[in-house]
Amino acid sequence: MRQYDSYVEYLLITNGNVWDGERVLNGPNSIHVKNGLIHNHNSGEKAKQSLLDHADIEHIDLGTSFITPGFIDAHTHILHAGDRQFEKEMRKQGASYLDILKAGGGIKHTVQKTCESSNKHLKKLMDERFSKMQATGTTTIEVKTGYGLSKNDELNHLRLYAEWSKEKKARIVPTLLMAHTVPDKKNRKEYLEEVVETAKIARQENLTSRFDVFLESGAFSQKETEFLLSHACSLGYQITLHAGQFSEMNGVDIAVRHGASSIDHAEHLKTGDVKKLSESGIAVGILPMCNIELDTNIQPDARFLIDSGVEVFLATDLNAGSSFCTSLLDVGRLALRDLKMTNEEILKSVTSVPAKTIGLKKIGKIKKGYIADLGVWKNNIDKFFEKNNKLEILFVEGNKVVN
Ligand SMILES: [Zn+2]
Repeated sequence: MRQYDSYVEYLLITNGNVWDGERVLNGPNSIHVKNGLIHNHNSGEKAKQSLLDHADIEHIDLGTSFITPGFIDAHTHILHAGDRQFEKEMRKQGASYLDILKAGGGIKHTVQKTCESSNKHLKKLMDERFSKMQATGTTTIEVKTGYGLSKNDELNHLRLYAEWSKEKKARIVPTLLMAHTVPDKKNRKEYLEEVVETAKIARQENLTSRFDVFLESGAFSQKETEFLLSHACSLGYQITLHAGQFSEMNGVDIAVRHGASSIDHAEHLKTGDVKKLSESGIAVGILPMCNIELDTNIQPDARFLIDSGVEVFLATDLNAGSSFCTSLLDVGRLALRDLKMTNEEILKSVTSVPAKTIGLKKIGKIKKGYIADLGVWKNNIDKFFEKNNKLEILFVEGNKVVN
């Protein structure tokens, strides 16, 4: 965790409501921030009392604004160069995502562009993307590799993430996704061994503790995925999977067997999968922007998942080919429109659920002792995901970063 240079103490006051990560608390609300942490949060009469009790510290009056924890984007591929907007044309001609991948486009195109880029250029691209994310309330992001596809490049990208996070003061959770696709010129079996070797080094160097596989025809088979996950588990990795995006390949069974924290995509599930997910406590990462961009005409059944007790988080899936979206606010709007999720469910799916899923402690809630990452918004809960909502202030560890 990075540390900010200056530490401050103040009382945030609003007559508006607060989303604390689990529920809405009616105004007035007061949040006491000290040394980058939430020292206390009170609502109603207790909030009024805390104003009197803390008359000696700075008060920041936010009028009737609505306050949320900083958003957490738990599925991004932020490190990439080049874009693949040209694939839109190919798709219009009838080519599928997997057709494009097989023809050397898709991930492979991005790998080439990314590996040709200098670290300086990659950092600049990430800076731009992260600033846009912050402008719509995101303070923490999960970041995947998967555009290196060789031991050296994947390790370089993990090291680059660590360096960038420090310099940019960006809170990130890196995930090794070297099992994104098999590079053209490599033997599959040898590549699997190379992934395992890379995973070992990444753990030794403490570069990441999360491991992801793209389980899909055209990417990794069930057998290959099981092989990789067995090794990753024995190395102590937390497991996540890209599964069920285009086809159902027993992703849930594999996730359960390997104690995964989430499966992401999950557009295609088989009967009984939802029950298994709820029983095993595996979260589902829903990435609705991707399906809009790829025009797949299918979205996961978020309503059924939530009603069945499965924890759901929403993410941008920011990448070069199938989602150029940096805004969880836009993702939330889509979820409200297309996924039959309520405002409260959407806010939960970008705060407390992703925090828990990717193993973040003291993030994603407005609660005593939690890190003071806070978004201050124009609209209240009932209109939160309407077009005219606006981020007014963003605090990261108690410091204003967007104002
Ligand atoms: Zn992804």
